[in-house]
Amino acid sequence: MRVLVVSDIHANLDALQTVLDAAPAYDLLWNLGDMVGYGADPNEVVSIVQGLGEVFVRGNHDKACCGISDASDFNLIAAQAAFWTRETLSNENFEWLKSLPAGPIKPYPSQDITCVHGSPLDEDEYLIDMRDAVHALNLWQPRLTFFGHTHVQCAFALNGKQSEGVRPRYEVANAPQRFHFDLKPNYRYLINPGSIGQPRDGDPRAGFALYDSDEERITFYRVPYDIASQQKKILDAGLAQRLATRLAEGR
Ligand code: ZN
Repeated sequence: MRVLVVSDIHANLDALQTVLDAAPAYDLLWNLGDMVGYGADPNEVVSIVQGLGEVFVRGNHDKACCGISDASDFNLIAAQAAFWTRETLSNENFEWLKSLPAGPIKPYPSQDITCVHGSPLDEDEYLIDMRDAVHALNLWQPRLTFFGHTHVQCAFALNGKQSEGVRPRYEVANAPQRFHFDLKPNYRYLINPGSIGQPRDGDPRAGFALYDSDEERITFYRVPYDIASQQKKILDAGLAQRLATRLAEGR
């Protein structure tokens, strides 16, 4: 089984289309949430992702953009983008976002795997460093958990008291690249495929991952996309300038 794992598309159609063109062959697609918010193409992105796989977890921005939450915990720029998205979404797309399940969900009944947006312990919590990850892994037993929310491509692993972190290392910064690692027996993992639409690990390329269950291997991908096109749409929509500039910085 080959699973494409995607997260934090954030209404960035330019990045999503590039990822779908660049993605390797896959059997299933798991979507870890934050399909909208920040970017300028919420309807286009929702229309496309609805047809990609059957596994979806809602993100905090999905909740804010369809009124499940009131965005009171968002900064001003994020809240403004959420309200713009609310106004812009078609009724159909608004209702679809509203119907998304909260994590954790089990995407594949026979396997010990879960999908979440933030943390398996709290859908809105950020798993930023090894300390956060070890805390979650001590309380969460499934062998593999895919998470998003931080927009940082990485993995954390725990075997008893032994912990390990994986950060992909790419040889070049301006071309499509991939980086793989093999899953070790006896370790339990938290794996973040990175963000498609608004990376924050200093690498502006769209990030995603492939999980190959036969090979027991995770491959991280980064692909350059037309950032200028998304920036122009963000500015034309009247969204905050910072939402455009940060795309080029990958922050
Ligand atoms: Zn996000």
